[in-house]
Amino acid sequence: MNDSRSITCPACEAAIMKAVREDMTYTLSDGTKVVVPKLAFHRCPACGETSIPAESARRADAMVAKATEQMAPEEVAAFLKALKLDQKTAAQALGLGEKTFHAWVCGKQTVSRSMSFYLRALKANPDFFRFIQNRGWHEVLPSVASVRSTSRKKPVTRKRKAPHKSNLNLSSRR
Ligand SMILES: [Zn+2]
Repeated sequence: MNDSRSITCPACEAAIMKAVREDMTYTLSDGTKVVVPKLAFHRCPACGETSIPAESARRADAMVAKATEQMAPEEVAAFLKALKLDQKTAAQALGLGEKTFHAWVCGKQTVSRSMSFYLRALKANPDFFRFIQNRGWHEVLPSVASVRSTSRKKPVTRKRKAPHKSNLNLSSRR
């Protein structure tokens, strides 16, 4: 069935992509290798270009995510359930985009490795989550904030310089 569709190689345009089924090895940023057995994909016999169909890519993503201990969509859903949160409330509490949890729960986006560790820690320690949700640092840090702002007030005797503009950009990004 795969052979019925003939796709010209988008890279070299000199041959038709051939359907293959092979073990595919992915090397992660930390050097870990993840082998996805018998992955179905297409390869150009002329230049070696590969094209991985969506279904195979999802399977490969899931295996890589598991190997790197990234959260699966079900685990994200379990996080929300355990902390009795809806997606929007959770996103606001953690300073994430409104649709982030939706993308994670429906598998449209993969939860990064570090974010997975973070969410698991919050699930295991609901008090930490509430601390973040209530911006608990406002209760402990005002003195630190004022010390910091005064220490920044160095005597300014410099003449006008162009870099003033970049300061403006920085503060507007907050
Ligand atoms: Zn090619």
